[in-house]
This record gives sequence, structure tokens and C-alpha cells, in this order.
Amino acid sequence: MRNVLFLAHTEADGTLARPALEALGTAANVAAGLGASVVTGLIGENVNAAAGQIGGCGAVKFLAVAGPDFAQSRYGSDAAAAEAICRTAEAEVVVAAGTSRFSRVLPGVAQRLGGRADTHVTAVSATNGGLAAARWFYRQRMEGVFQRSQRPWFLLLDPGSQPPWQGSGAPATVEPVAVTLTEAHRRTSVVGQRAPAADAQTIRPDAALLFVAGAGWTKKQADGQAHVQEAEKLILDFLRLTRASLGSTKSLVDLGGEGQAVLSFLTHLNQVGQTGSTPRHPKGLAACCHGEEPHTVGWRFINERRAINLDPNCGWARGKADVLYVADAFAVMAKVNALLAAKS
Ligand SMILES: Cc1cc2nc3c(=O)[nH]c(=O)nc-3n(C[C@H](O)[C@H](O)[C@H](O)COP(=O)(O)OP(=O)(O)OC[C@H]3O[C@@H](n4cnc5c(N)ncnc54)[C@H](O)[C@@H]3O)c2cc1C
Repeated sequence: MRNVLFLAHTEADGTLARPALEALGTAANVAAGLGASVVTGLIGENVNAAAGQIGGCGAVKFLAVAGPDFAQSRYGSDAAAAEAICRTAEAEVVVAAGTSRFSRVLPGVAQRLGGRADTHVTAVSATNGGLAAARWFYRQRMEGVFQRSQRPWFLLLDPGSQPPWQGSGAPATVEPVAVTLTEAHRRTSVVGQRAPAADAQTIRPDAALLFVAGAGWTKKQADGQAHVQEAEKLILDFLRLTRASLGSTKSLVDLGGEGQAVLSFLTHLNQVGQTGSTPRHPKGLAACCHGEEPHTVGWRFINERRAINLDPNCGWARGKADVLYVADAFAVMAKVNALLAAKS
């Protein structure tokens, strides 16, 4: 068995983020199961801090492609760097985090090397020399476990699906891998990054809690009026106090397209469900959401589920939630926010 390559790119501060550490833990397990060695491959402007961070991981080599050209995500330079590292490492299996940077580039690198790449991998097992990977299909309804004969086999792990590597840092000797870039590699210039302000970013995959807002927030209430602005304030206050991630139902995000009053900070990216996302948070709380199957299927990986709904016969009451509070979400969330504010 040849080597298992753990491939990672550094973050803006030069360190490795949690998704990379999850990939490292998996690479170490795979190597142990196959009786192979781990080789580390790092890509970034300066990889010394990252190499030191994982210096105690037991890798037999720390290969790196470093320099200003490799600071930013760019297909041409990233593909050249990853290809050079894979060839030097003589890797049969490559384990990497499924970040947007790597998901874009590593399938192309697999093609150049005559191998195969699988994305959205959620589990890898290696026993008796055999390697198998698992991922979900058909909108996360079926899990498939599969093997491949082609090598190198690139496995891009879904961030959040694995425990991170827990070892300690140590000095590491980094072996530079030479990559000559031509103007064609640099044809795309990265001029910077634009990201929403921290408060405008409501999707937080690492949050302990998912808060899902349903269309009920925009519906007429007991007084015959809709209270959309009050709903916006209650939800934003709750997110500010808890740093929860914000999800939505399809009905709520679709309302905007129909010219109805909507919560201004929601987009289709917040949509959870069959035609939306399937987030992985330990806990979830839905408010003013009916809990219909096409929505709750997106809660597959949420361990503890609670919902607030006026209707005791809503979908959540039919085995979709662990706890259903039959109550007015406006009143409940106002009280919850007051308690949280007093606590902070
Ligand atoms: C092919 C297909 C794919 C779909 N994919 C998705 C998907 O990916 N994601 C998704 O979300 N949906 C999806 N849907 C739509 C889904 O079936 C539901 O229509 C949708 O989830 C309903 O959204 P809702 O619960 O927000 O709205 P509603 O069904 O309108 O429910 C609003 C709820 O708010 C409650 N409410 C109102 N006021 C209050 C209050 N003051 N306090 C407490 N509760 C209150 C009401 O009792 C009601 O239960 C899909 C449908 C189809 C056919």
C-alpha cells in the first residue's frame, strides 16, 4: 500500500481550520486501517504555522507548496499545487476537507492523475486492506457505502461530519514541492473577498442551535393583523443573543417572489428541507413552521428537535419533534429573549 495523503489549504491567518483537522483525523484512521503511512500536503502563502499545528500527527513527510501565488483560492494555481503534491507523495488515497476551495479543484486534479474523486463523503472505513466510503444520495434520504478500484482516490469529507484530529503541535520539517506557474495559471486574478458583515451572516454551520422560521411569522395573527416587523426584531434579537444559525421553510422564502411581506434577511440559502439544505446542528427549534414532511426531511441530522406552533395537530406533533410547545411564538420568543438578555 502506498501513502495516504492528507491534503489541506491554510486559512487567511496561516492555520488549519476545523474541516482540515477533521480530514487529518480521518486520514490517520485510514492509514492505520490500511497499514499505510500518512503524508501531509499543505498549500498556502506560508504553511509554517499550519505544519507546526499538526506537527505531532505522525506523518512521515510534510510536503508543501507555498508562496503568495497560493494564498487565495484560484483553480489554476491550486490545481497545479495539488497535482505536484500528489505526484511527490505517491498517494493512493487523498483525504481532504470538502471546502469550497477544494471541492472546486480536486475533482479536476483526480482527472489529471487518472484517479477518481468523491465529494460529500460522510464516513470512511478501512479494514483488512479494504477501503470504503459513505455518502448520502437522493436529497439525503439514502446512504450509500461504496468502494473504487481506481487510484488515486480523492475523498472530500463534508465539514462537520467527522471528529477533528486532537493531537498536539510540534515542530515539523517542511519539504517544499516546486511548482512553476505560467501566466495561464495566473489568468484569474483574485482581487479580494466580499463577505456579508458578521451580523448579516445568518447561516452558521458551527452553531449549536438551528432556529427555523416558518411562514406563520408573516400571517395574520389573533388581532387580524400581520406583525412582520415585530417578527423580524424577535428573530434577530434571538440570533444575536444565541448566535444560532437561521433556517427557513420554503413557504417563507417563496413569499418574497409573490410580492408578500417577508423577513428581509432571509434568502433561499436559508431554506431547509427536501429542496433546501440538510444542516447538522445538535439542536433545532422551529417557530411558526407547520412541520410538513418536505421541510422536516431536512432535519434528518438534527439530534434534538423542538417546535412552537399554535396548532396542536401540526406536523411536529406527529412524531417530527421531541417537544412541541403549543403556544403563540410571538409571546414565547419575546419571553425567551427577555430571559436571555437578563442572563447576558
Ligand atoms: C416537491 C416539494 C418540495 C418541497 N421542499 C421544501 C423544502 O425544501 N423546505 C420546506 O420548508 N418546504 C418544502 N416544501 C413545502 C412544504 O411542503 C410546506 O409547504 C412548507 O414547509 C410549509 O411552510 P411553513 O410551515 O412555513 O408554512 P405553513 O404551512 O403556512 O405553516 C405556518 C404555521 O405557522 C403556525 N403559526 C402561525 N402563527 C403562529 C404563531 N403566532 N405562533 C405559533 N405558530 C404560528 C401555523 O399554525 C402553521 O402551522 C416542498 C413541497 C414540495 C411539494
